[in-house]
Amino acid sequence: TVRVRIAPSPTGNLHIGTARTAVFNWLYARHTGGTFVLRIEDTDQERSRPEYTQNILDGLTWLGLTWDEGPLYQSKRLDLYQQKVQVLLDKGLAYRAYDTPEELDAMREAQKAKGEAPRYDNRHRNLTQEQRAAYEAEGRSSVIRFIIEDDREIVWNDLVRGTVSWKGRDLGGDMVIARAASGTDFGQPLYNFVVVIDDIDMNITHIIRGEDHIGNTPKQILLYEALGAELPTFGHTPLILNEAGAKLSKRDGVTSISDFQRMGYVPEALVNYMTLLGWSPPEGVNEIFSLETAAQQFGLERVNKAGAKFDWDKLNWLNSQYLHEMPADKLTPLLIPYWQAAGFEADWNDRPWLERLTGMIGASLARLDEAVPMSEYLFTPTVNFTEEAIAQLRQDGSATAVEAVSAAIANYSPLTEATIQDLLKQVVKEQNLKKGLVMRTLRAALTGAMHGPDLVQSWLLLHQRGLDQSRLQQALE
Ligand code: GLU
Repeated sequence: TVRVRIAPSPTGNLHIGTARTAVFNWLYARHTGGTFVLRIEDTDQERSRPEYTQNILDGLTWLGLTWDEGPLYQSKRLDLYQQKVQVLLDKGLAYRAYDTPEELDAMREAQKAKGEAPRYDNRHRNLTQEQRAAYEAEGRSSVIRFIIEDDREIVWNDLVRGTVSWKGRDLGGDMVIARAASGTDFGQPLYNFVVVIDDIDMNITHIIRGEDHIGNTPKQILLYEALGAELPTFGHTPLILNEAGAKLSKRDGVTSISDFQRMGYVPEALVNYMTLLGWSPPEGVNEIFSLETAAQQFGLERVNKAGAKFDWDKLNWLNSQYLHEMPADKLTPLLIPYWQAAGFEADWNDRPWLERLTGMIGASLARLDEAVPMSEYLFTPTVNFTEEAIAQLRQDGSATAVEAVSAAIANYSPLTEATIQDLLKQVVKEQNLKKGLVMRTLRAALTGAMHGPDLVQSWLLLHQRGLDQSRLQQALE
């Protein structure tokens, strides 16, 4: 049965690329009835941070990408890696190399001078017992290198890219699998090595990951062979590109899932969008789908080879579709934190009022954070009038309209949509004013702007907070 994994390194917040890889793995596991494993690759002790691990776990959970096994931590598995280093040494497939950084630099300089690509020239592959003893007597530390034969050809059938082949000589020489340590100790084991040990140990059958790892795969395949393990199937998914067509990176600003969350994207929309970054549903299937629906359709044969351009317009559109469909009782608790963060004051337990507000603006939102400017006038005791609104309030008849409405409110209690209509009719008739003028003036007076959410609904919301009369008085000043 299928076992897939996601293996983020906690050296930063959950990145959109990693999250998209998680989406594909999750979908593949669900589609095949397989198992989705989460492994935290925290072997790099200097760059790994617990808060990044937390951010990754929170982000995956928020997106709904629940894992079936894990999280497993590489930092707790160092004994296993050391054991496997020893296995390769014992088999003669790896060796200690004692080169100093200065010697390696000099080697690369010489290669550069000859116009060659830098690579380790395998100079310590066949040291004699005496040479090793001499280096150790000098007090040199050693890295562990895994032997890569130049004339090897490594070929695999990639689920996305088809047949991929590499030559041993293009892999940079014998590769370091464990960092420097002195004596018989092993230093920190490195990614390409531990990833293979773990994937073997966890019986991973399919490795679905970003194309940026494609150059690591041949090295990993050689390690599988050396360890006598069965090869998994590989699938390398296209990179996510920015507007300029380059790989999306930290420099592009928003790249971590927590950034998207803060900006007011909802997880259902973000996960839907990420699924479409490099994958397309079969003909005739709607592009708006839940993870569960996508899982029914998902397969790597519909994953593109070409990079996937990040399209903000499409993401915003998808997000708006989810927000417009969301019932007020679900949307309201999502909006409250934004209102609170903006410093607005309200009775946050008055759910009926808040849900009426949400019901009024929900269909206009593309992102949750837009609720702040859109509804500010309902929270503040006074309003900042726009220039247009001030101009409206200075028109002939505007002051009369405001005064008449203000005086009439008490007679139409309780104020409802219906009584507001009656009140307006009465004011128009008694004051002999145009209905349009009265409506525009009221909008200016109550909301401070000439455009915005429904006027009658806004009035009722203000009225329920006891703010309508003071707004009208403010407009007269
Ligand atoms: N820790 C690696 C990364 O985050 C995992 C790559 C892999 O899936 O093998 O890129």
